[in-house]
This record gives sequence, structure tokens and C-alpha cells, in this order.
Amino acid sequence: MENKPDKVVYMDHSATTAVHPKVLDAMLPYFSERFGNASSIYGLAREARRALDQSRQTLAEGIGAKPEEIIFTSGGTESDNLALKGVADALRSKGNHIITSAIEHHAILHVCEYLSKRGYEITYLPVDKHGIVDPDAVGRAITEGTVLVSIMHANNEVGTIEPIAEIGRICKERKVVFHSDGVQAVGKLPIKVDELGVDLYSISAHKFYGPKGVGALYVRRRTPLIPQAQGGSQERNRRAGTENTAGIVGLATAIAMAEERRDDYNRKVGALRDRLIAGIQERIPSVCLNGHPTRRLSNNVNFCFQYVEGESILLNLDLMGVAASSGSACTSASLEPSHVLLAMGVQPEIAHGSVRLTLGYDNTEQEVDYVLSILPEIIERLRSMSPLYSKAGAAAGGGNG
Ligand SMILES: *Cc1c(COP(=O)(O)O)cnc(C)c1O
Repeated sequence: MENKPDKVVYMDHSATTAVHPKVLDAMLPYFSERFGNASSIYGLAREARRALDQSRQTLAEGIGAKPEEIIFTSGGTESDNLALKGVADALRSKGNHIITSAIEHHAILHVCEYLSKRGYEITYLPVDKHGIVDPDAVGRAITEGTVLVSIMHANNEVGTIEPIAEIGRICKERKVVFHSDGVQAVGKLPIKVDELGVDLYSISAHKFYGPKGVGALYVRRRTPLIPQAQGGSQERNRRAGTENTAGIVGLATAIAMAEERRDDYNRKVGALRDRLIAGIQERIPSVCLNGHPTRRLSNNVNFCFQYVEGESILLNLDLMGVAASSGSACTSASLEPSHVLLAMGVQPEIAHGSVRLTLGYDNTEQEVDYVLSILPEIIERLRSMSPLYSKAGAAAGGGNG
């Protein structure tokens, strides 16, 4: 086994990314000399106002929207909350039915649970074994009372890319408002809101080399939306609160950079992903790739390692200087298997042994090869201690009773 590297091998880019130095440079003046409140009238404030206008323009151009269709928020979670609660409140007299999928981020699923306690009917569409939502199933689920469909653009755990444009077409035909959580898609997939057919689209800066705590919600003109924060008249009365000028400048700088280097990113990161996937499949027996073999994000690797616990693999990787995550958002100590893998039909005991490695722009072939050099031994050692595992010929599990 190789020596632990000096620098952490960071392979958890779907959890968050480091702020790019150019993004940080663009932000810094807005913490200090350009600190003005964009709502005031003197010169200092006008500087902040100009930065906000410019950032709104940049983001709108990046996603093919108009500036007035952008609401800046505190991140993906707030954007998802505003989209779902905002549309549900606005259309309460029209109906109480919402359609989503079983594999959404908790920022969608937990809002749906909340809305269901408040009298909304939620349909959770199933997915196939690769994590794909069937657009026809969306069409079949729509009823007279359906006020909103929310299906994510790309899944954060397994990287599966959903057929958003087809779902968008169906929603438009049936005149149902369509939201998509695009947090994982920005910087990796082309995002043109008209081509995707979305009425609302959630974005979060820290997933593409921008700062944490800032995001945006795209809202198509004339989409009914009740604000969820009352106060000042910021964001055209749709989201009260003094704007996070530095964060918003960071978001805009990051999205411009992400769009500019998207092809290069996908080529480079995609090659690392393929090397990692092939290497794991070659060197480790009894593994399965979770997610779609081809319709997946260029940075996502997610494997089941049978007979071992994902958490144990992660701890061992951490000891060897590799930062990765389990399939599920393991923010709590709960050892519940991932709802995404379960929805894809993965058996709970196998889902427990899953690990997600998400690559980024500055990962290298050397880092991938390092992981490939240590992982087989980690898995082998954990399996040798696992009562579930018995090798052909020698009952390795027998002695551990
Ligand atoms: C990270 C993430 C979110 C939450 O975004 P925050 O900015 O961290 O609140 C929502 N949806 C998806 C798909 C995500 O990956």
C-alpha cells in the first residue's frame, strides 16, 4: 500500500467545492471598500447595486433567462423551499396535488412532507434501476388538481441525468408548473431554461466553485409565486432581506467560469471518472456501479461493495487521506440506507455498502491511481472481518461468528 499523501485527496465535490481563487478575488472588495447596502441612494450603495445588476445579468445570460426572472437566495435549500412552498401557496385555490420523484434531495422531499401535513397530496414517482424518472409516468400522474411537478435535473448521489426536457414538454402541454432542482447540473450540463422547459430552476453556488450560502431561483415570467420571507422590497418583493452582495458576485463569477470551461471540465473530469470506474471494476470483485452507465454526471462515481459497510470504507479512506462520502447525505449518525438506492431497487444490505466519489477540476490521474492502489486492500480487509462474506473455497466468514 502506498504512503498517505501530504495533501487530502478530495473526492467529495458533489458535497461542496473550494471557492476558486478568481471567484474569491471578485468577491473580496464587496466585504470591505464596496460594502454599501444596495438599497441606499449614495454612491457607495450604487456600486453595490451595479454589482448586483451585473451579476443578475451574468447569471441570466448563463441560463438563457431574463434578469428579472432571477431571485437570489441563500442557496439550493432555500431555492427549493421557495419554489415548492411559493407555487403551492399561490395555486392553493386551483388544487393541492404535487408530483415529485422518490430520489429527490431532502431539500425537496422534506418540504413535500411538510406540505403533505398541511393538506397537500404528494405523488412520489418511482425510478428505474438506473434512477431514471419515466416522463410518461409524469403525464399519467397529472390530475385536474396538480399544481406543480418537481423533478431534479441530475441526482446528487448517483449522478443520473433526468429527461428534463421531455418532462418539461409534457408539463407545458398539460399547463402544469414545472420546477427542477438543478443544483448538481450547473457547470456540467448545458442549461437553457427554454430548452429544458422549466418554469422554476434551483441553483447553488458552492457546488460549482462559488461560495456557500448563496444561490438563485429562476422563475419564468408570470409563474405564480407567493414570497416566503416578508420584509423589505428586495428581489422585486419576492425575497426580503439585504442582498448578499459579495456572495452574489461570487455566484455570478463562478457561473461565468463554469460555463466557459464546461466542455473542458467534462472532458477532463469525465476521463478521470472513467479511469476510476474501470479500475474499481477490474481490481475489486463483487461490486456494482450505482446509477446509469452513460446518462450520468461526468464527475460521479458511486459503487456498492458487497459484504461491507460504506461507513467503514469511508473511515479507512479518511485514514489514508481520501475524502469521500456514502451515497446518503450522512449528516446525522443515522445509518439508514440511501433513499435513492432503495428507490432504484438496490437491496438494503447492499445499499449499506455504497460509497460515492465525486471528482473535480483539480483531481489528477495520480490521485485516481492512488485511490485504486489503496481501495482493494481496504475492501479485502473489511471483507475478511465480515461475517457476511465467505470466499469460494475458504469460509472466511466462519471464524468471526
Ligand atoms: C447540495 C444540494 C442542495 C442544497 O443546496 P445548498 O446550497 O447546500 O442548500 C439541493 N439539491 C441538491 C441536488 C444538492 O446537491
